[in-house]
Amino acid sequence: MKIKVIPSASLGANCYTVLSDNAAIVIDPGEFSQSIYDFLEENKEKQRLILLTHCHFDHIGGAEKLRERTETKIAIGENEFEATISSSKTLSDYFGIFVSPFKADIAIKNGEILSVGNLKVKCFETPGHTVGGMCYLLENALFSGDTLFKLSIGRTDFPDGSFKEISKSIKMLYEELPDDTVVFPGHGEATQIGYEKNYNPYVRNV
Ligand SMILES: [Zn+2]
Repeated sequence: MKIKVIPSASLGANCYTVLSDNAAIVIDPGEFSQSIYDFLEENKEKQRLILLTHCHFDHIGGAEKLRERTETKIAIGENEFEATISSSKTLSDYFGIFVSPFKADIAIKNGEILSVGNLKVKCFETPGHTVGGMCYLLENALFSGDTLFKLSIGRTDFPDGSFKEISKSIKMLYEELPDDTVVFPGHGEATQIGYEKNYNPYVRNV
């Protein structure tokens, strides 16, 4: 399994590509870019998926155009399924950045394990930053969206945010995942579960 980060300079968010022998996954395309498009096109013969951690504009902005141009399906948590059509939920209104409304193809349930080619994606619903945000575990890599960052956590001051909920979600991740799980967040550098358990100033050990 090969992971690549494609940072968006204009949005300051991370998009990731995950590749295996027979799977090609794009996580959180905040904007359409040639390199993300090429990744999906070059791996046409593999099973492909666009996975969204949550509904905010800087994580979903490129999804619809990628789907259209590459015929790749989009998946998002079931409790966020309607949110991508709402400019208040995507924070498109709040930040004044237009995202054309769309609906995903697949609604993911908490605890579900998606199969994409030979890859298994374990899905954890992690509310707190948004209502139905998800973190995705592929082998020992966790894509944590805006739930858990290196030495930080996602904002909870937006209308659907809750510090109590995000703390619960992160503690659940600390409990469920081995310390050496590598965390690939929606913003900033990668980290590890064990490191955050010990040093995260917002949510520490269970
Ligand atoms: Zn967000």
